Amino acid sequence: MPELPEVETTRRGVAPHVERQKVTAVRIYDRRLRWPVPRDLPRRLVGRIVDRVDRRSKYLLFRLGGDTLIVHMGMTGSLRVFTALPPKQPHDHVDLEFGNGVVLRYRDPRRFGAMLWSPRSAPLHPLLAALGVEPFAPEFDGDYLYRATRGRRAAIKLALMDSHVVVGVGNIYANESLFRAGIRPNRAAKRVSRTQISRLVAAVRETLTDAIAKGGSTLRDYVDSRGEPGYFQLDYYVYGREREPCRICGATIRSVRLGGRATSYCPTCQR
Ligand code: ZN
Repeated sequence: MPELPEVETTRRGVAPHVERQKVTAVRIYDRRLRWPVPRDLPRRLVGRIVDRVDRRSKYLLFRLGGDTLIVHMGMTGSLRVFTALPPKQPHDHVDLEFGNGVVLRYRDPRRFGAMLWSPRSAPLHPLLAALGVEPFAPEFDGDYLYRATRGRRAAIKLALMDSHVVVGVGNIYANESLFRAGIRPNRAAKRVSRTQISRLVAAVRETLTDAIAKGGSTLRDYVDSRGEPGYFQLDYYVYGREREPCRICGATIRSVRLGGRATSYCPTCQR
């Protein structure tokens, strides 16, 4: 499933090819996504210029003079840039064609993704309005996360994965950030000290930054590639490494389930 680093890598991969370009054609092959692709998308988009491509949480936001095309890649969605129109394949849903000849193609075998229109006249789209702070926003700091976790008896890992608290920290990055901060994932959130919370904020940013940097090496996969782009892996410290030795201290990595998700940690490095 694309997590925040994959979505940010996609943004960086497609933006240079479509920003300041005019949409010349929209082809909808299959409207069936998590919500149906709006029928009137061609009428709304053709002739308009994409000013820029932003990201909010795991949503890509194509800005067109105050209107927004919202794209979410769900479980298996991908956006790819083609400089010559390729034959349509199964699971291709939508093509956006631009004045520079570029075709941006959305593909999604499992169809949990979304492509939605949000006009400037409407209030902030409900999907975006419910989101917490961005992990790279200045508001996400030690004071903020400390306040947000007081009174929470649930595990710190679950607080970190709660999109009302902070967006875009999925299972992999929660595991890895807690390792880097030296915090046991199952500690009650309210028991994590102010000092540890500050370390955790820094660790979240470092972990995501490392993953995005790793994604940079895959950017060429976004252009004229027939394969699935944008999946890459950090050299994880704990995620998926249960029963293997800790890379720092050599202790055996343990695994517990939290909120139904595999959670691994080092019993020595994390307290
Ligand atoms: Zn260790």
